[in-house]
Amino acid sequence: MRCVALVGRPNVGKSRLFNRLVKRRVSIVHDQPGVTRDIISAEVDNNFTLMDTGGIGLATENTSQELMDAVEEQILFALQAASLIIFVVDGIAGCTALDEIIAEKLHLKNKNCLLVINKIDTQQHLENLEDFSVLGFKEPILISAEHGMGMDLLLKKIDTVLGPKPVHQAEPNLPERIRISLVGRPNVGKSSIGNRLLNSKRLIVSDVPGTTRDTVEANLEYTTKGGEVRRFRLADTAGIRYRGKIKSPVEYFSALRTDRAIENSDVVFLVLDAKQGVTQYDKALAGKILKAGRALVILVNKWDLVFNSFSQNRLEGYENEADFRNKFATAVRKHLFFLPESPIIFVSALSGYSVHNILFVAHEIFINLFKKLPTPRINRLLAQMINKRTPRSINGKRFKLYYAVQTGNRAYNIRLFSNRQTTLEDAYLRYLQAGFIKEFGIKGCPIKFEVIGK
Ligand code: GDP
Repeated sequence: MRCVALVGRPNVGKSRLFNRLVKRRVSIVHDQPGVTRDIISAEVDNNFTLMDTGGIGLATENTSQELMDAVEEQILFALQAASLIIFVVDGIAGCTALDEIIAEKLHLKNKNCLLVINKIDTQQHLENLEDFSVLGFKEPILISAEHGMGMDLLLKKIDTVLGPKPVHQAEPNLPERIRISLVGRPNVGKSSIGNRLLNSKRLIVSDVPGTTRDTVEANLEYTTKGGEVRRFRLADTAGIRYRGKIKSPVEYFSALRTDRAIENSDVVFLVLDAKQGVTQYDKALAGKILKAGRALVILVNKWDLVFNSFSQNRLEGYENEADFRNKFATAVRKHLFFLPESPIIFVSALSGYSVHNILFVAHEIFINLFKKLPTPRINRLLAQMINKRTPRSINGKRFKLYYAVQTGNRAYNIRLFSNRQTTLEDAYLRYLQAGFIKEFGIKGCPIKFEVIGK
């Protein structure tokens, strides 16, 4: 993250400087009323994110204590969120006590910091400059935000501190194969599904060279009607095709293999048995998959048995297969209440029913893994969600969000900058996760929220 934050007492010209640097008069990105209006941010030259912290903690009329608190909060946020802090002072007013306090706080932390003396519009303004030496910054930069003087030098200094800009690829580099695995309890039909896939006439199947017998993987591919070739790699086919041969300490190896398969997958299919539903083990496994940051799809196998039962009128309490399916899905979501809106698909390895959907869904979910979530949208969404339902306060102190940004994929990682270091309750994290999945259309993908604060 290349973030530059402007700090300084009120009226030194931070927002004027902000607008000058982003070259627009009005640059309010987070324009929604709500928790994040305190921070204004924008991209500068496609190079770094500039933030004006001046809105944090400020009311229309602050007492001097409130002003101190506000400035302290601003500095705290800047120290957490920015890689460079620009400390702005007023060259006409001269150095004030509050400037000295701010300088002291900034010096306490080992942070990149530039002192910028603003409002140097004429020669005579240079008189006050000596005063600022008490702040302890070498080579202050003289500017006039109002008249646009000193901007080039300032931008150059910012560049020097931030270092060369990382080269951005227009499109994220998608791996060429989608790695999938089938995990679940013994006898739910993992091997049978795997074999169905491997023996499918619609797919081209080949072994992955270099894999040993107990780590065999297979490549699968097919061409869509539109002519697009979709490539997959199925992990852990050892348990599928060479099943009979590797029996000894089965339990141990299968647990180990499951972990490895999860680790090596983009999309993990948790296989359930239609006759049995969700067990404690399934719940634990689902948790493990999500904790590993992998996308998760629920696969309910042996659905032929359900069709059979209905053709023989044998399932009491359900109107028909569709009714049973709905209730089954509802029960799965109730037991696995933490799912990131994972799709649930119903298949039969025995009859082949819906097995082709596995790769379709894998592709659909895989695409969801690589999105770049725009910062303004993240902040708008969080502002709305937090307004609607405030996180429970811990020790009676209000949780306040300043700013949030995506810092990773797989799992999606959202970093929240707040006024306090706190852990949000699981239920609240699930509430946020659901909101994100809906807003950004990333079902199946786990989202992690990391709170950074005092
Ligand atoms: P794994 O331990 O999860 O790999 O399970 P297997 O693939 O070895 O299957 C366990 C048992 O369930 C075997 O007897 C399979 O024949 C049976 N089975 C697997 N898939 C289905 C299915 O779709 N329908 C039915 N009726 N039985 C199945």
